[in-house]
Amino acid sequence: MYYQSDTHIFWNGEIVKASDAKIDLYSQTMHYGLGVFEGIRSYKTVVEETKIFKATAHYERLRNSAELVNIPFKWETDELISATYQILQINELQNAYIRPLVYSPANMSFNLNKDSFIVIETWQMAPFLGEKLLKVMTSSFERPNPSGFKIEAKVTGHYVNSILASQEAKAKGFDEALLNDINGFVAEGPGANIFMEKNGVLVTPPAGNILPGITRATVIEICEEMNIPVIEKHFTTAELKKADSAFFCGTAAEVIGIASIDEVAFKNEWEDSAGFRIQQTYKNLVIEKSFITSQSFV
Ligand code: PMP
Repeated sequence: MYYQSDTHIFWNGEIVKASDAKIDLYSQTMHYGLGVFEGIRSYKTVVEETKIFKATAHYERLRNSAELVNIPFKWETDELISATYQILQINELQNAYIRPLVYSPANMSFNLNKDSFIVIETWQMAPFLGEKLLKVMTSSFERPNPSGFKIEAKVTGHYVNSILASQEAKAKGFDEALLNDINGFVAEGPGANIFMEKNGVLVTPPAGNILPGITRATVIEICEEMNIPVIEKHFTTAELKKADSAFFCGTAAEVIGIASIDEVAFKNEWEDSAGFRIQQTYKNLVIEKSFITSQSFV
């Protein structure tokens, strides 16, 4: 259940009941997947306030995603952040998932749209991939070709690829998929970035074939703070299987350890890994129990 009869949403400048809002069934987003969205979380902090984690970064990525795929974007970041706080309060949510979606008008042609619409929805959500270490399989699906898509944008249509990969993994008894890029290097999960640890160094795929996540950037900041070396470079599934540990990270998934890849278990105990220490720090950061001093906290 994402909403009840009294759930409110922000919809094109107004706050309305979710059940009263309508979408045009002729929308280009429905037919062709041309829409952009975000996945954001808010947390109840240690002083019991509601705080949206990295709100500015998320709403700026939303604007950037829209610009990359020629969707007009007419909202200010501050306006969207304050609207989000308003609906969280009305919906009585503190630990929430926040989903802004910018969608297109009715248009069956491929011509540029002059207009677009926005909705911001909120709901309660547990960690997306659960809290147990994950059994991951290499997907038979590759991430989309960055020459064919704006892969760094969070576009609705891209998620057909994520859904196919995740469903395939679950049908085969795994918890999640891991997708390669078009060159055969490890790219990312269907909705999360990946890090591996080898001899005390963390390695993550560089931008180019992935959605460079906001959590990925936070993990890199945490590593700077904790003096854990991080390298952005390509690696293969074979190299990953020889790593000491690995984890996925994303707004919805947070930081979650991986037990095995294609049933090859990692050597180190999760509790002894750098990923585990980063996971603890991330949990404290989002509730403002600790701060990163080296970077501005937005
Ligand atoms: N990759 C993909 C494909 C995703 O959908 C997500 C979730 N937005 C991520 C990575 C992680 O991004 P973020 O940390 O910004 O949530």
